[in-house]
Amino acid sequence: AKESGRNTYRFFNEQMNIDALEQLQMQGQLRNAIRNGELVLHYQPQIDIGRSGITGFEALVRWRHPEAGMIPPAKFIPLAERSGLIIQIGEWVLNEACRQAKAWLDSGRPLVMAVNLSALQFRRGNLLETVASALERSGLPARYLELELTESILLHDIEAAMQTLHALKAMGVKLSIDDFGTGYSSLSYLKRLAVDKLKIDQSFVRDLTEDPEDAAIVKAIIQLGHTLQLSIIAEGVETDAQLAFLRNYGCDEVQGYFFSRPLPAEEASGLLAKDFL
Ligand code: C2E
Ligand code: CA
Ligand code: CA
Ligand code: CA
Repeated sequence: AKESGRNTYRFFNEQMNIDALEQLQMQGQLRNAIRNGELVLHYQPQIDIGRSGITGFEALVRWRHPEAGMIPPAKFIPLAERSGLIIQIGEWVLNEACRQAKAWLDSGRPLVMAVNLSALQFRRGNLLETVASALERSGLPARYLELELTESILLHDIEAAMQTLHALKAMGVKLSIDDFGTGYSSLSYLKRLAVDKLKIDQSFVRDLTEDPEDAAIVKAIIQLGHTLQLSIIAEGVETDAQLAFLRNYGCDEVQGYFFSRPLPAEEASGLLAKDFL
């Protein structure tokens, strides 16, 4: 068991070129992972700069592998997308995140739960039914659920994607564009998209205080977003200086290691009493 544990660990952590056989192996393990309850969600707080409090959490999935330990999403989400397993994983994530948000709501904490959606969930699977069912099963009112989408959902069938977004919006769910600034969509689509929020990608936040171009991009996104009546959140905030810049330029919310890493639900609950800014 020791031996296979080490192999599995190597398999997930060191090998850059996973061959077809290994992919199949990992795919099988991932399929079992859902069944065996090995997936877990960690929660990272989103903080309102003006009110200095937590407005919500982003749910981030991890795979608690019996031998390899905690596997980060970058190591299995791409495979899940290629194999279509992301549909089942995404459904599990939605249900679990809504359940947790309802638990917080019931304990007197009305928080918005942000859930990542993969582009495939838009094109395949019954996204609208899946979302409606997660809300119904958990009893969570739709306004406490926010879906984080990337611009890649627009790549294949823009009209269909827009229709889905409007239907979600009509249900009362909030929508945000993740990794904003890294995508390909034309800015003119933004106002037609029915989204509520833009999330500035962490690649622009990282060198914000040293790189004048990144600083200019961040300022422009905040300005553009506000002109379109969108709320702006910056992710990957790690330093005081980044926070000061973002506050100075009117960014609405922040998220990053400066405040907290993503944490298991119980530890995340502990953050709720804290003063952040
Ligand atoms: P993302 O949605 O852009 O999530 C942000 C990532 O940045 C998370 O990594 C988070 O832990 C990390 N992060 C947060 N604050 C900081 C910071 O201050 N500095 C740095 N360097 N990183 C920070 P994580 O949890 O490993 O997730 C990686 C990606 O995996 C996510 O990127 C998202 O694209 C994907 N993912 C995670 N959970 C799900 C899910 O349930 N469904 C889908 N479809 N994708 C998911
Ligand atoms: Ca995200
Ligand atoms: Ca992001
Ligand atoms: Ca990202």
